[in-house]
Amino acid sequence: MSARTITILGATGSVGRSTLDLVARNRERYEVLALTAHKDVAGLAALAREFGAKQAVIGDETLLDALREALAGSDVQAAAGQGAIADAAASGAEWTMAAIVGTAGLGPVMRALGGGGTVALANKEALVSAGALMTEAARASGATLLPVDSEHNAVFQCLQGARPESVRRIILTASGGPFRTWPIERMRAATPEQAVAHPNWSMGAKISVDCATLMNKGLELIEAYHLFPVGADAIDVVVHPQSVVHSLVEYVDGSVLAQLGAPDMRVPIAYTLAWPDRMETPCERLDLVAAGRLDFEAPDLTRFPALALARSALSHGGPKPAILNAANEVAVASFLERRIAFLDIASVVGDVLACFDPPAPASIDEVLEIDSEARRVAAEATGKTRI
Ligand code: NAD
Ligand code: MG
Repeated sequence: MSARTITILGATGSVGRSTLDLVARNRERYEVLALTAHKDVAGLAALAREFGAKQAVIGDETLLDALREALAGSDVQAAAGQGAIADAAASGAEWTMAAIVGTAGLGPVMRALGGGGTVALANKEALVSAGALMTEAARASGATLLPVDSEHNAVFQCLQGARPESVRRIILTASGGPFRTWPIERMRAATPEQAVAHPNWSMGAKISVDCATLMNKGLELIEAYHLFPVGADAIDVVVHPQSVVHSLVEYVDGSVLAQLGAPDMRVPIAYTLAWPDRMETPCERLDLVAAGRLDFEAPDLTRFPALALARSALSHGGPKPAILNAANEVAVASFLERRIAFLDIASVVGDVLACFDPPAPASIDEVLEIDSEARRVAAEATGKTRI
């Protein structure tokens, strides 16, 4: 069997590296076409050399010479700029991992979908901002879109073979993040270090903060709406602090199927790599007796208003999900730079959603316009709440 060609967008990140860890264990099965990163030249060059990539692309154009230097003496071709990342996404790989963080990944993911191959999607922000356009692009080209996000991957596994009309409800689990049990007074003073210290998962900074505000679950609600054939009202969220049950599907006959496992992103990534088959992973095996108990509770929308904002953005539809996502990206970056307080993240998002109401986007360019205008409004709002 010939090796499967793969491209990894966002190769130097947490999901990118977990993907390459699986590839390293099955070298003969994959041929790496392109690896991309934003600014981490040394990290990208080392991965490109290790995996014998055809091409390495750095997003920041000013770093092209540095990348060329870091790749000197190798056969890896160097390229730079957002356009070059998008071109790499369209390089015809049979399997592409979309693991860029934020709407920066939207252009590349659309190019990858246009190629008609398999796209494993971690980049949830792209789907939140442009869900209908993305799923339509996949339909038009015949591309296969597979969910990497652990919850959606779990739902996808529980849905195998199901008829849409037999599904009653999807239940997404949320760990509740590091502040699940904190009183609101304490959350007010939460620092970036405390927010990124996730109790169960090791991830990039932005998604870790999203987990702490529960915006991550809000984005995932919208993500689930675009991926699965159920209405918004049929998607529930339940807090499950142990992160062992990754999500559930309830059928019309009352059966509820769940996918369980250790909290390790290599499990859902492996499912998208091997689908419709399965592959071995080195992941810790689930020991239910050692786990002892599994707890579930309702999310507290007073301390975690971001989840309610996302649900409302989903029910209003049109431009609202893109605005929610863009405002959140700006607010999270400001929080990580210590310019706003933790609870201001949701306030900024709420303010931007309330004051900016453009018409619904009909194209990716219109999504990107809304995204950039929402970022401008959000930057103003974070300026007002500066600490
Ligand atoms: P990360 O910050 O660790 O990595 C992000 C990657 O994207 C890096 O390779 C970085 O170089 C690249 N990148 C960042 N900004 C870019 C830009 N402007 N242009 C081009 N490339 C850029 O993030 P992560 O935790 O790996 O998450 C990646 C995506 O996967 C996010 O959308 C996140 O929500 C989603 N996700 C992550 C996890 C996880 O466990 N980390 C789980 C589920 C979903
Ligand atoms: Mg998730």
